[in-house]
Amino acid sequence: MSDRKALIAGNWKMYKTCAEAVDEAKALVDLVQPMDDREIMIAPTYTALAQVSEVLKGSPVALGAQNMFWENEGAFTGEISAPMLISAGCSHVIIGHSERRQYFGETDDTVNKKIVTAFNHDLIPVFCIGESEQERDLNQTFSILDKQVTKGLSNLSSKDLETLIIAYEPIWAIGTGKTATTEQAQEAHRFIRSLIDKAFGSELAQSMRILYGGSVKPDNIDELMAMPDVDGALVGGASLKADSFSNIIKYNR
Ligand code: PEP
Repeated sequence: MSDRKALIAGNWKMYKTCAEAVDEAKALVDLVQPMDDREIMIAPTYTALAQVSEVLKGSPVALGAQNMFWENEGAFTGEISAPMLISAGCSHVIIGHSERRQYFGETDDTVNKKIVTAFNHDLIPVFCIGESEQERDLNQTFSILDKQVTKGLSNLSSKDLETLIIAYEPIWAIGTGKTATTEQAQEAHRFIRSLIDKAFGSELAQSMRILYGGSVKPDNIDELMAMPDVDGALVGGASLKADSFSNIIKYNR
C-alpha cells in the first residue's frame, strides 16, 4: 500500500438541476465522515456550483468543476474561467474528459492550455486520459497514453505538477458497464507512472495520484483500490446517488 492519499471523485456530468444537486450534496454530506487516508470531491454542473459549495462547507467533500476555459475573461460566449470557478467555491477542475474530447473538440493542446491555467490559479487539475476500444484492439494503448501525457503536460515542470492528479479512463469503460480488469487498470497506471518518472523524475512519479475511471461501482471498487498504482476513482453514473457514491467512498482497504 502506498502512502498516497486516495481521492474518490464524482463527475455529475450534465445531470441535476440546482435543487437536485443541492439535495444530493446534502445527502452525501450526511453519509460521509472525514477519513485520514482518502479525500472526496464532487463536480456538479456549473449552474449548481455556488449553491453546492455552501452545502459542502465544513464537510470533507471538496468541490470541482467539469471543465473551464484558459482565458480569465473576455468575449468568449458560453465559456467559464478559473477565477469564476474559484469564486464559486471550486478547488478542483476536471480537464480533458473524453466526452469533452469526443463531442466538443478538446485536443491535447487545449487540454495543455487548461492545465497550465489551472496551476496559475492554484486549482487542482484532474487530467483525464485514456484510449478508445479500437486503439486498445490495435495495441495502441501505451502510445496513446504516452502522447496524451507528453502533450498534455508540455511546458510544465515537476514543481508545477506537484498537485496534478491524473485520471486513467479507458473510453470503452465509461458509462458502458464494462470495467477494465484490475490487471488492465494496474498495467495502464504503472505505465503512466513510468511516463511521469521518465519526464519529471521519480519523486513526482511516486507522489502523483492516478485515479481509475470507467464504470466504477460499489461492488468493484475494493478490488480496484487493492492495485498498487490505483490511487482512487473518478466515478460518473454511480456518483449520482449519495447511497452508491458513499459506498464507493467507504471502500475497504
Ligand atoms: C466518467 O464520467 O468519468 C466516468 C468514469 O463515468 P462512469 O463511471 O459512468 O463510467
